[in-house]
Amino acid sequence: MITYVATKNQGKLAELEVMFEGRHLALATFEGYADVVEDEESYLGNARLKARALRAQLLETGINAAVLADDSGLEVEALGGRPGVRSARYAGIEATWAQRRRALLDELRDVPPVKRNARFISVLVLMLPTGEEIVAEGFVEGCIAERECGDGGFGYDPVFYYAPAQRTFAEMDPDAKNRCSHRRRAADALLAALRAS
Ligand code: IMP
Repeated sequence: MITYVATKNQGKLAELEVMFEGRHLALATFEGYADVVEDEESYLGNARLKARALRAQLLETGINAAVLADDSGLEVEALGGRPGVRSARYAGIEATWAQRRRALLDELRDVPPVKRNARFISVLVLMLPTGEEIVAEGFVEGCIAERECGDGGFGYDPVFYYAPAQRTFAEMDPDAKNRCSHRRRAADALLAALRAS
């Protein structure tokens, strides 16, 4: 089933393409996709906003296809779950990813290693041409490193330390990250729900 992805984030897109390869959904991108203002208070709310926006944009050009949207974030225990749903806007909408990571490390400067627990969350929404919606969620636990390590991945990957691999997500081979990530777990749950439906 051809499924358009509601994202302009190349990191996310590359990961989703790997996860759904050969598994029922043939992912495609729509050149004209215009990002929406993500002003909902939940991942699900924002994922729905993106999915609905892309569905409407596609319908305007005569394409009635399924769409997939991911809303994700990083929740840091010592910060009461922030930046969470606002992860992409942490340190200001205009900040670069390097500035966001720097701001996070600065905010946690006095927090000792045992209190730096964090988790990544991904909520996926698949909207079918019939109007049916399938929702799935995945998370992965880790902690925030004391400094950046690695140059792979995207976003907060260089500061997210994943204990089972003894590395940050940015130091891990992309395939290794894709086997354990929040997005992988959400994608697997989505495929299971799709099969069940
Ligand atoms: P949104 O889903 O577009 O609102 O963005 C959430 C933000 O959280 C992204 O822009 C990311 O940088 C961050 N994020 C989500 N998933 C990951 C990940 O797998 N690695 C690093 N950062 C992530």
